[in-house]
Amino acid sequence: MSKLPVLEVRELTVRSAERTLLQNVSFTVQPGEWRALVGESGSGKSVTAAAVMGMLPQELESTGTVFIEQTDLGKLSKRERRRFCGRHVGMIFQDYANSLTPSVRVGTQLKEVFRFSGGGNKKEADARIVEVLEQAELSPQAVLDKYPFELSGGQLQRVAIAMAVIHRPPLLIADEATASLDASTSKKMISLIRNIQKQTGCAVLWITHDLHTVSRCADTVSVMYGGQMMEQLRLSGSEPAFVHPYSRLLFGSILRLVPEKRPLSFIPGDPAQISERGCSFALRCPYAVASCDRERPSPHRMTDTHEVSCHVIHQGGLPHEHSASSGE
Ligand code: SF4
Ligand code: MG
Repeated sequence: MSKLPVLEVRELTVRSAERTLLQNVSFTVQPGEWRALVGESGSGKSVTAAAVMGMLPQELESTGTVFIEQTDLGKLSKRERRRFCGRHVGMIFQDYANSLTPSVRVGTQLKEVFRFSGGGNKKEADARIVEVLEQAELSPQAVLDKYPFELSGGQLQRVAIAMAVIHRPPLLIADEATASLDASTSKKMISLIRNIQKQTGCAVLWITHDLHTVSRCADTVSVMYGGQMMEQLRLSGSEPAFVHPYSRLLFGSILRLVPEKRPLSFIPGDPAQISERGCSFALRCPYAVASCDRERPSPHRMTDTHEVSCHVIHQGGLPHEHSASSGE
């Protein structure tokens, strides 16, 4: 079954004058898919999202291509790209309260967002706003005439979600959307987004360092480290079949946490230093060989739904007895 992707990122590289932040990152998001983009802080997840949206700070330069529904965003002017992304991508941020202007009533803000990117006339706006608030499980009467400060944290979050989906975007990008929430609120938020996804068929790019949320919602996972893509995998069954040393250490630590309450596994070395030449994980990788430092491993297809970038695996795999999930 080959569907055209909603988002296709090819060889995305982002640099500042001093350093590289993202190196040749490629991935796709299919219609209706929930893809988690995971990694420790500094791995390049948010830079990836910003580059997709054309929201990188001026001092950063990017190369590579980004397609959203077959439109090459690099061919659009800055203004066209903003409008296009405004209609095709809904963004949900960690500080959802900041997506709202404190001094403007919620209803007015929703109307402005609807009109931006040519959403339609006043009557269409009113109807759509009621519809999205209900989708976000809010009573329109309870929030439309309120100022953001009059709403609870939970209501604000739902308004931010309503705002993100107002144009029926085929793609939602959530950057650490549950990072500031307690476990039960985070669960509710995920199930709300899940419901919206079911109703609208949108795809979700779920950027997170919280691996607990990944097993709860994702269909596919892309693991990043030090500005490079390490492994991409479709999830099936109860334990993800990661083979990359970094993913195994990362996910090994969470799998251990759940049933036996063992401590998080320790990944030696400083977090996420980006290697200009080789594999970014080389400094911390227990399996590194000489070529890891010198040469960046390219993505290697294990199956149709599994891709790994690692020299040692390309040369025949990691020894099973050293696997991160076998415990030490
Ligand atoms: Fe480790 Fe080398 Fe594989 Fe990188 S390429 S994960 S350093 S073995
Ligand atoms: Mg981030």
